[in-house]
Amino acid sequence: MQNGKNYYGIQVNLSEIEVEQNTVNRLKQLTNNLGDCYNEKKCPLPNTMSAERKAVEMYGEWLNLPTKESWGYIGGGSSIGNLQGMWMARALYPDATLVFSESAHYSIYKFSSLLNFKSVIIINTLQDGSIDINDLKRKIHREMNIVIVLTSGTTMTSAHDDVDNCIEVLNEMECTFYLHLDAALGGSIIPFISQGELGQKPSDFTFSNKNISSMTISIHKIIGVPVPANIFISRLSVVERFKSKVNEVPYLSHIKDITIYGSRDGFRAELVYKRINSLGWDGVYDIVQGLIKNCNYLLEGLKRLGLSEIFRVGGGVAIVIPVESLRKFMSYETIKDIEKRFHLVRDDENYHIYVMQHMYKKDCDEIVSVFRSALL
Ligand SMILES: *Cc1c(COP(=O)(O)O)cnc(C)c1O
Repeated sequence: MQNGKNYYGIQVNLSEIEVEQNTVNRLKQLTNNLGDCYNEKKCPLPNTMSAERKAVEMYGEWLNLPTKESWGYIGGGSSIGNLQGMWMARALYPDATLVFSESAHYSIYKFSSLLNFKSVIIINTLQDGSIDINDLKRKIHREMNIVIVLTSGTTMTSAHDDVDNCIEVLNEMECTFYLHLDAALGGSIIPFISQGELGQKPSDFTFSNKNISSMTISIHKIIGVPVPANIFISRLSVVERFKSKVNEVPYLSHIKDITIYGSRDGFRAELVYKRINSLGWDGVYDIVQGLIKNCNYLLEGLKRLGLSEIFRVGGGVAIVIPVESLRKFMSYETIKDIEKRFHLVRDDENYHIYVMQHMYKKDCDEIVSVFRSALL
């Protein structure tokens, strides 16, 4: 059975995965990873914190963060991971201006209001969906105190913001800043691609880049797990400073709960650990390389039909179709039919097709043939 068939609008992996019986058996009783998984002794409930820590550390290693310098936990998706990073930043830089691009995920807009940032600057993006460095230069001032959220793998086009140049601008302007990287998609791509593929240095998007304080990576997207999940990772030094801003909980052995959560799903944490441990670096590498190969295959197939404005960004796994370019070739109704058939999503400018592991070469062929028969 191919459950994911024709679901190509959202960047999630819908292929079926193996779940071990003893993992399923966990559902017979509550596991609750309440609090900091690096403080397991203080957790008053059955939990899977040791698997949770291993998952954090495995991803940390892939993203060049030494285990002894890392902290993190598994949550219910990168929206919450962004909230964690922005909460930490807000507490550490209470007077900061929040800066992000207009292509940032909608959770950033949401939490900028929830966390009540005093001022917010939204930077324009280029046509490929990445942040416009010149607009950043124009909009920030000297010696500003900034919380900046950049994106590795934007929602609509899969673009990777030019982290290096953004930092250069902030340094030139002598700004102090906290940088949270929304790597919901890109965190599972960056470690597995070359500089040639990305068009930038992959290490700029990892903790090798000393300017990055925290990141979130969604696990149900590239990797695929049967429940929404993210790994939040932060430098331990940043977390230690953040901890001084958080209250103790008297009835929980005076722990400081530095997570967004109270109760946290232990079943999910174990699923995530088992999945990434069984894949390993090599397994994820194979997935990512397969996605890029299919992406290029689909892109070429569509371009051969004469749809020349369709594009894919370096290090991206989305085929982006400018809506206006389609209008030249198809009626409004035909476009709507294709949208429905493949569950595509669009914003004001673009449709995208996300090439995830459940899309096979034959599915690419089918998409191309549907577009072919739809041409006027
Ligand atoms: C998917 C996504 C999110 C939100 O992640 P959820 O896991 O859906 O909460 C945040 N940022 C980006 C760039 C995303 O692609």
